[in-house]
Order: sequence, then C-alpha cells, then structure tokens
Amino acid sequence: KKVADRYLKREKLGEGTYGVVYKAIDTKTGQVVAIKKIRIGKQKEGVNFTALREIKLLKELKDPNIIELIDAFPHKGNLHLVFEFMETDLEAVIRDPNIFLSPADIKSYLQMTLKGLIVCHNKWVLHRDMKPNNLLIGSNGQLKLADFGLARIFGSPERRFTPQVFASWYRAPELLYGAKQYGPAVDVWAAGCIFAELLLRRPFLQGSSDIDQLGKIFAAFGTPTSSQWSDLVCLPDYVEYQYVPAPPLRSLFPMASDDTLDLLSKMFTYDPKSRISAQQALEHRYFTSAPLPTNPDKLPRPA
Ligand code: ADP
Repeated sequence: KKVADRYLKREKLGEGTYGVVYKAIDTKTGQVVAIKKIRIGKQKEGVNFTALREIKLLKELKDPNIIELIDAFPHKGNLHLVFEFMETDLEAVIRDPNIFLSPADIKSYLQMTLKGLIVCHNKWVLHRDMKPNNLLIGSNGQLKLADFGLARIFGSPERRFTPQVFASWYRAPELLYGAKQYGPAVDVWAAGCIFAELLLRRPFLQGSSDIDQLGKIFAAFGTPTSSQWSDLVCLPDYVEYQYVPAPPLRSLFPMASDDTLDLLSKMFTYDPKSRISAQQALEHRYFTSAPLPTNPDKLPRPA
C-alpha cells in the first residue's frame, strides 16, 4: 500500500529519537527514501503549524553535506518526513574493527561535518543533537548531517521517544550548565567530540548523566576558571566544583599531530563566545597541511 499515494513502504530501518524510520520507494522518481514517522499525538489544534513552517525552512536547506528533506506531510496522526536513503552512518564506521581510519580519512570526515554545519549555521539553524549516528554516509562516501533543526521543532532530546543514556556525551558545557540562550557553538563542541571519537575509536567523554558528563569534561580539560569563561557564574545550574587541573591534551591523544591538537583545543574552548566557529575550524591549518583529506569516494566503509 502506498503512503500519500506516492511512497511504497518497505522494511523498518529502526527506531530513533522521534519515531520509527522506514525504507520506501518514491514511485514518482524511483528513488529509495527513508521515511521518518513522527508522532504528533493528539494535539487539539491538529497539526502544529509552527512545526510545519519550520519544516518548510529545512526543505530549503540544500547542500551536499546535509541530508535532503524531500517531502513532509501529515498522515494518520503522524508527521511523515521523507529523506534521501543513506547506506550507513559514521557510528558504524567508527565501531567497525575491520576499518582502519588514516589521519587523512579522519580529516575528510571532519571536513564534511564542518561544511554541513556551516551551511546550517549561516541560516541560523542549530542541530543541537550532533552525534556519530546522525552523520549519515551515502554510497559515494559523502557524509551528510541528518536530523538538522528537529530538536528545536519537536523538543529537545531529553524528552526522547526512546531513552538514550549516551545523550549527553556530545553536549556542550553551557547546555550542561542549563544555559537558556546558546548558539552554534553547541554544535562545534559536539563536532569536537566526534573528531576526538574518530581519533580514539571510542566515545571521548562518556558521562552517565549530565552531572557526570561535566565531571568527565573537567577531568579532560580542567575545571573552567572565571578568566577562561566569565559568564559561567551566571548560568542557571552553576555550582562551584573543586579545582581540577587540566592534563596536557597530548596525554589524551598521544598519536595526534600538533595541528590536530591545536584544532581540538579550539573546538573544546569552554567559553562559547571564544570557541572556534565551524567556519574558522574549516579554515584551520589542519585542513591544508599534509596529509590532505581523503577523497570521499575513497573512504573506507563497512562491508
Ligand atoms: P536517532 O534519533 O537515534 O538518531 P533516527 O530516528 O535518525 O535515530 O534513525 C533511526 C534509524 O533509522 C537508525 O538506525 C538510522 O540508521 C535509520 N535511518 C535514519 N535516517 C535514515 C536515512 N536517511 N537513510 C537510511 N537510514 C536511516
């Protein structure tokens, strides 16, 4: 049976933050797509118009490093979002013990991540829930950001459809401190965590809760001082922590190049106002010094 007279539903691909994802064929174009069914529940007002307006904006975000939102429509009490189908994701690449990631491969993955981020940030759209399984990889090796802007439309990931314990591993310190106003810097922190994870081949800061997450961050970078981050004491959940010194970053990433460590430290700057932007990160020496980023179609992928 066809959905909205257009999509032939195939197997279930999985269950995510907002609902079930199905593989389907677009009978209009023959393209393989992924349809995300989002429960909009029994809202008295019917379909949430704010959500639909925001989704229209996402449809206009077209870029090689952003997953294309092909169509969006309400159907039987669910909002259906139709995306291009993607073969795999960065989490599968990082976890695959048969895959060797060279410094050039890591550079390529980070470069594509930053390129996608820049396009969104230029349009004032934040991701807020960046993690390796939201970075989808197509058959040509292109990495594309998925789930952009959904956190703002459908609520933050804390109110998840499926509970995910590791939700806080990529969360920026300002969010952990309860900042109500935050910006693109939260996505840069998360991209830094993904960069670190590509280097280590395991999640870098694996907190078991928001509080524990801050502890993991302090253990890696030292407790933030007011000279590093002057607005810190004004944040809603600010509490004084016992001073912890920062170990040398080199000790956490023994194999990394100097350029790698320099870019990492700038992405992990505590004060979001001083943190490097996605654009500045892309212009960092790391990307122009040898080895140059691997061509996407040459990147290793799971068998
Ligand atoms: P999460 O909210 O945990 O990030 P998602 O809702 O994005 O998860 O996705 C749920 C499942 O559907 C995952 O297993 C993911 O691999 C798969 N999936 C999501 N989007 C696509 C897509 N565009 N192409 C192929 N598979 C997808």
